[in-house]
Amino acid sequence: MRKTIIENFRKYIEKERKLLVSQNQKKLKDYLERTNDENRDIADLANEEYESSIMATNNTHQYRHLNEIDRALDKIEDGSYGNCDECGGEISIDRLKAIPNASFCISCQEKREKSGLMESGDEATNGFNLPPISSSMLKDG
Ligand SMILES: [Zn+2]
Repeated sequence: MRKTIIENFRKYIEKERKLLVSQNQKKLKDYLERTNDENRDIADLANEEYESSIMATNNTHQYRHLNEIDRALDKIEDGSYGNCDECGGEISIDRLKAIPNASFCISCQEKREKSGLMESGDEATNGFNLPPISSSMLKDG
């Protein structure tokens, strides 16, 4: 896949990550208020690790979504974005458009579903809060 296209995916995925984290800022704040420790500074505690742990207890689905987003960003960093975790083959651009954080190509995904490693439809929707990535966002250059 071309670098410029990957870069556009990265921007899109990072935007989603920001949105997800900001949605959870309120939950984090509520949690800290509930814990009622006056000596704590919210800003000090609002580091990502802490945030993730709150999200893990509060919202498993969103936590998993964030993990998948981080995994996709890791793959962009190490240059393996768009490659299947299982067979190393290319994940089609259409699949990535539908599921930007897809880790497996269609055939490996189907194999995993059949073997029960993954629930059917696990990645059927990307769970992104953003509108789907558009073709114009993926224009080269
Ligand atoms: Zn594969």
